[in-house]
Amino acid sequence: MKIRNIETFPLFYRLPKPYGDANGIKAYRTCYLIHITTDMGIDGWGECTDWLPTLHKGFHERIIPYLIGKSIFDRIKIVQTIKKWHSRAATAVSMALTEIMAKACRVSVCNLWGGKFRDKVPVYASFQSYSEDTDWQRQSLAAIEKSVNQGFEKVKVKIGGKSIAEDQEHITTLQSLLHGKIKLALDANQSYDISAALQWQSLLQAWPNLLWLEEPLQIKYIAEYALLRNRLVIPLAGGENIEAPTEFIPFFTQHALDFITPDPLHVTGIDSYRELLSLARSFGVRITPHAYDGALSRLYALFAQACLEPWSKMESDSIEPVEWDAMDNPFTGLLPIRPSNGEITIPDGSGIGLELDQELISFYQWDGSSYR
Ligand code: MG
Repeated sequence: MKIRNIETFPLFYRLPKPYGDANGIKAYRTCYLIHITTDMGIDGWGECTDWLPTLHKGFHERIIPYLIGKSIFDRIKIVQTIKKWHSRAATAVSMALTEIMAKACRVSVCNLWGGKFRDKVPVYASFQSYSEDTDWQRQSLAAIEKSVNQGFEKVKVKIGGKSIAEDQEHITTLQSLLHGKIKLALDANQSYDISAALQWQSLLQAWPNLLWLEEPLQIKYIAEYALLRNRLVIPLAGGENIEAPTEFIPFFTQHALDFITPDPLHVTGIDSYRELLSLARSFGVRITPHAYDGALSRLYALFAQACLEPWSKMESDSIEPVEWDAMDNPFTGLLPIRPSNGEITIPDGSGIGLELDQELISFYQWDGSSYR
């Protein structure tokens, strides 16, 4: 079975109210979808993110001409070749070819992968806590309250973008609203050093509902992560930007993280992503996927989590949650799945088992104009 046609769909949405984290304020959200069809009429979707002009030129001038006529049974070889040109584009191709293989076998992606351990996977509501407004704390608290009222039982909130005193005021107020009933993760986006991170220690000690502290330090400082993990009273998480599974190995061998947070968009290819999950399990490390930048890649994170062996024998806590973007982002609506009581029911149909919203894809099509 050979690849006959590839369509691309760059999507763009300018945020009416910009929001952000310690890395800065975002003015827009983007998404790049590809749709591959074979000579037997079987199709599959893939997704990636990057600067849209770069992706568009890369796909149309190099990747699509390379892919036309290739056998879908050469997925790993194809992904390895495209990886040399553009890692994230390779991931999109990997997803689409995986879906085509599942549909060719008339099974779901999960069944292609060996089957699910569970039908539902928990998600946590993920927030970008900062805005350009002086009352950013009030806006943040209102957004979190709305998600909790919608049934989310776990949330992740940003720190590290303001002074420690201001961030601690925000989180202390939030904790007084959550009454310890909602689990909370804090994400500093690599903003601190060890001593700054430890300025949170007395508060972390006082709060029993914390899930983890995410990326307090620059991720390259593996030994420092190990030192901090020895002192910190809550679990440490990180690794969302790491592309190669082997780059996680020092974190495992140096006991530097409690949770890794790989992103199926950033690890090159969905096959490598799943190999990484197995590797983490063999080191006894928990996995809570970063899945902020796309509905389709998040679905693949959910599939992989559904097919992952439990990390613990504790039944209520046996699978780690996947990130769910709780901010203003129309691309969340690309797929017809929504959390119910903080969980996603994994679709069972052939391939990904869901149809992408074509009207939404048309509506948000990028017009080719420059943006920054
Ligand atoms: Mg993060």
